[in-house]
Amino acid sequence: MGCIAPKSKNTQKKTSDDNLNSKRDGFQSSRLIKVESKDQLAFHPSLFVGRRKGNIEEHYSFEKAIYAGSYGEVRLASNKITGLKRAIKTISKENIGKDTKLRARFFTEIEILKQMDHPNIIKLYEFYEDDSNYHLVTEYVPGGELFDYIIKSKMLSEPIAAQFMRQLLSAVAYCHQNNIVHRDLKPENLLIDAQSHEATLKVIDFGLSAFFDSKVSMTKKYGTSYYVAPEVLRRSYNEKCDMWSCGVILYILLCGRPPFNGSSGPQIVRRVQKGEFSFDSPSWEGVTPMAKKLITRMLDYDPGTRISANEAVQDEWMIYNASTIPRDENIAQISLQNLKTFRVEQKLQRAVLTYIASQISNKEEIKKLGEAFRDMDTNGDGKLSKEEVLEAFYSLGGNGFSQKDIEDIIKQVDVNNSGFIDYTEFIMATARKESLLCIENLDSAFSAFDEDGSGKISAIELKNIFGKELIATDEVWKDMIAEVDENGDGEIDLNEFRTMMQHIFDDRP
Ligand code: ADP
Ligand code: MG
Repeated sequence: MGCIAPKSKNTQKKTSDDNLNSKRDGFQSSRLIKVESKDQLAFHPSLFVGRRKGNIEEHYSFEKAIYAGSYGEVRLASNKITGLKRAIKTISKENIGKDTKLRARFFTEIEILKQMDHPNIIKLYEFYEDDSNYHLVTEYVPGGELFDYIIKSKMLSEPIAAQFMRQLLSAVAYCHQNNIVHRDLKPENLLIDAQSHEATLKVIDFGLSAFFDSKVSMTKKYGTSYYVAPEVLRRSYNEKCDMWSCGVILYILLCGRPPFNGSSGPQIVRRVQKGEFSFDSPSWEGVTPMAKKLITRMLDYDPGTRISANEAVQDEWMIYNASTIPRDENIAQISLQNLKTFRVEQKLQRAVLTYIASQISNKEEIKKLGEAFRDMDTNGDGKLSKEEVLEAFYSLGGNGFSQKDIEDIIKQVDVNNSGFIDYTEFIMATARKESLLCIENLDSAFSAFDEDGSGKISAIELKNIFGKELIATDEVWKDMIAEVDENGDGEIDLNEFRTMMQHIFDDRP
């Protein structure tokens, strides 16, 4: 079609922003949590995103190159033990090593990705460092870039565009709520798991993202000309710059061409600076006023009045179009039933489930559960509140459910004590027993916990795995073992481990 914004690399020189971010120059975790007793142990998926030493080729077989950039490359690989496919982004130390600001950005990317737990944000599994490279091992998204899907489809119908936008906005709302601004949202950084209108979308490339402080404006110029907000060009902006980029993306999805176009970079930038766009071309004729209104609110020149991500997910166009999609009521029913019966008391069981749900579950079922999660997440912030869970029970006819019942569910499922049901927690609590706790998953979880390969999991190993973020005495780790140590020898062998895990969900289908 030739009209859509051509693929463009970031036009601005990449430098580091705020002090907040440039201080992050290492793999140390920023989250240290003091734990006084075993009962206080809470597990977040980030605990398992460890730094691995040694040669990555011992653990992964590289299959093909996906992308080559100036800083390094992205390759498809499969894990030699689990066979799971991963995309590995490799960055050469020589390229980033000389530039301390670039290094800081790179570590910020890792730190941010580690904390993200959302169905529409790329998952970071682990990272490696060897003599010449850093490697980020991430979820592989096989359908390619949303960019290519737009090129193929020319433009999308409103219900289909809304499907993609809801996923994008939910991811952005989640980032903003966690004080993270992406700063490079564009169709090249949005991947889909299939070239289909029902695809799941994943936001990638947090290489320009930053932690922001809502009281301080950011000043560094980042982004890509078609998508960059005017206030970023003026070097005084906040997280709303992402919403401008979302507005540009929605405009492109609905008409196939960018709102601020030009024959050269500087010309595009001048048009962005003016901020004038129109719905005059014939392709806008059939588009509803509701859609145009949302775009206009996203491309509001004044970031102070521009719509926020939270508001946008609940915009009338989004809600109207969401109701046109057929729901899989069956999955919703089963998820709620499973949530209701989820009871996992022992800490090691909880930790292992978190590991399996976040690191090795990779089935089609998970995609369906991700959709059920999104449906229940009515305010689109990427986590389930008590009110949302209650609403879901009511909407499926689950009368007689009290506030207290919901509180009990949250207490059981909220393994990281955030007060909400996060994405991984939802997967853990709702997936079918045979997909979560199949022998392969149990065995690879066991070998991940049995760090020294002795055939037994010890308190010292737990300390090694969790102790970088959870600061606790040796007693706490010993108590965690003792709770499930059937034969009382102070360690957990593979049989004890399998039995302990298989007892979970005894009455789950
Ligand atoms: P850069 O900072 O160089 O833009 P990205 O993280 O955006 O790096 O990756 C570059 C390209 O590699 C993406 O636009 C996409 O085409 C491909 N890619 C990156 N991550 C993945 C992934 N997890 N799965 C599939 N393809 C990916
Ligand atoms: Mg990119």
